[in-house]
Amino acid sequence: EKFKEGLTKTRDSFSTKMNDLVKNYRKVDEEFFEELEELLISSDVGVVTVMDLIDVLKDEARRQNIKDTEKLQSVISEKLAEMLHKEDEDGALNIQKDGLTVILFVGVNGVGKTTTIGKLAHKLKQDGKKVLLAAGDTFRAGAIEQLDVWGERVGVDVIKHQAGSDPAAVVYDAIQSARSKGSDILLCDTAGRLQNKVNLMNELEKMKRVIQREVPDGPHEVLLVIDATTGQNAMSQAKQFGQATDVSGIVLTKLDGTAKGGIVLAIRHELDIPVKLVGLGEKMDDLQEFDPDTFVYGLFS
Ligand code: GDP
Repeated sequence: EKFKEGLTKTRDSFSTKMNDLVKNYRKVDEEFFEELEELLISSDVGVVTVMDLIDVLKDEARRQNIKDTEKLQSVISEKLAEMLHKEDEDGALNIQKDGLTVILFVGVNGVGKTTTIGKLAHKLKQDGKKVLLAAGDTFRAGAIEQLDVWGERVGVDVIKHQAGSDPAAVVYDAIQSARSKGSDILLCDTAGRLQNKVNLMNELEKMKRVIQREVPDGPHEVLLVIDATTGQNAMSQAKQFGQATDVSGIVLTKLDGTAKGGIVLAIRHELDIPVKLVGLGEKMDDLQEFDPDTFVYGLFS
């Protein structure tokens, strides 16, 4: 339900356009496919993903001898959902059964990193986990305060140093603190300066080295947070971060704020990084695990 609500803008735009298309073009022919291609691309589904989908649909229309666009409409969602399924991947976060789980969040300013950390802390806490936050974005004093606000709101502790201090030291302290408090999960914020990729890389690598030394198999996730409202820009950020560091999953925020939610499909299909969580609003419980079936059917229903 939450999912459907958050996707309202995308769904309205999508289904209106789709219904118009089916009404205007009754016959499944080359012209219809061209229009469908346009429609999907304008919803930010991504050129490569759209091309692949159109190929699949053409095959299917031929195979099943579908001539009526209305009949093809149900096949579109079915094939889209199929395309988004990946072998041996369930999209769930890698959370340890025993011992401390460490999750790093990366992404440029303003994408919703702090908000996501707050929301996830809330979700995990509701699941009965003991959560601790690390204010690893020491670059901006505002980022530390903001994380503090979320910590208070959700009722979890925040480990922080002064602005300008070494984020690796914050993470080190946070790990020691997590140990002594018996925390299950440590969520670490980081400063996302894509303008200076070398600095960014060095900083992240140092944080990772500290985590690796202190926590077996850590970090257990490196989640890249990107803003769905920035469309293809989000896609290019994902690619750039992917080059700067190993990213294990994507959090796509602000899906509620865009009619172009098709970007999820592009990211999912064109990058080798799973979308693990989606942000559907500014409130504490507006964070959902990403499930391709729910997403695709949510778009069309
Ligand atoms: P950060 O700089 O990456 O830490 O970004 P913030 O967490 O401060 O978020 C930036 C703005 O985006 C804030 O106003 C958030 O309330 C808003 N925001 C974050 N996630 C979402 C979301 O899923 N939906 C909406 N509508 N707003 C969001």
